[in-house]
Amino acid sequence: MTHEIAVIPGDGIGQEVTPAAIDVLEAAPVDFEFVHGDAGDAVLEETGEALPQETRDIAADADATLFGAAGETAADVILPLRSVVGSFANVRPAHAYPGLDAVQPQTDLVFIRENTEGVYAGIESEITDGVTTCTRVITEEASRDIAEFGFDYANQNGYDDVTIAHKANVMRTTDGLFLDVAESVGDERSADYDTALMDALAMHLIKHPEEYGVVICPNLAGDMLSDLAAGLVGGLGLLPSANVGPDNALFEPVHGSAPDIAGQGVANPSAMILSAAMMLDHLGYGEEGDRVRAAVEDVLDSGPRTPDLGGDAGTEAVTDAIVDRL
Ligand code: ATP
Repeated sequence: MTHEIAVIPGDGIGQEVTPAAIDVLEAAPVDFEFVHGDAGDAVLEETGEALPQETRDIAADADATLFGAAGETAADVILPLRSVVGSFANVRPAHAYPGLDAVQPQTDLVFIRENTEGVYAGIESEITDGVTTCTRVITEEASRDIAEFGFDYANQNGYDDVTIAHKANVMRTTDGLFLDVAESVGDERSADYDTALMDALAMHLIKHPEEYGVVICPNLAGDMLSDLAAGLVGGLGLLPSANVGPDNALFEPVHGSAPDIAGQGVANPSAMILSAAMMLDHLGYGEEGDRVRAAVEDVLDSGPRTPDLGGDAGTEAVTDAIVDRL
């Protein structure tokens, strides 16, 4: 069966790493039909809209979406796109690869980040001059959904350690609810789990990442802790992610549009290609997903490498090497 994939490269290095992922998918090989959509800063300038309705429709109708990166318009592009595909869970694995100079080579973590609410609910206001507020939304339903997803993910992927990240000692009502609900999901399943204050967790993750497996997080905490974990394994060029909903999903690198290196042809395509591998798993092509990961791992180990990993190769040379390995 042919799967229809929406491809939205977006801005900056999204334009460079997305074609790399398509090259790899074509070499996998899999029976995909790619439908291209535009979004981001350049589209806003041209059309007055960062996320045109046509692009929303392409993502909504596809079996899955591959998204590159958004620049200044990120909040107007990726947040609505995640909601167009109905995703509530953001899965962010942080895995240290052999051969790379990782700060913590024993890191093998997966952040399961709530993807719809928290401070990213977009409820901000300026009450009066110089006084602004942001409403943090935490609901029982979304907390239950993400906790169930997180415990299921740990179970299905062989992770023994589950940690629930929170800050319920300060945000007593909102994170109090998040923590209560997540703990009851763990208890209902008689699962082993720990809870951790998110600030202390940030420090422990740096010192002892090997003590953690799956980390279930509220929205902002998941965003920040996964970037921290990127630092542990060698940088943002390595972290893929999946935004998963009941019927659809969107796959994107954790990194943004990287304006400092955009247009130079030196972006590391690994995060984007590993996101495509997560998409393969999601669509039932687990074997192809494993082959893509093995090819990426092989090239990370033996080179060529992009400058963020200490090499001097460009995006295309690294992509070609991955395609060759496949
Ligand atoms: P956002 O807010 O959208 O996450 P940002 O500007 O905070 O974006 P990034 O665009 O992810 O962050 O870039 C952060 C740093 O990491 C930059 O120095 C960038 O060059 C580097 N970086 C990010 N992705 C890559 C990549 N794929 N290859 C090489 N370097 C990267």
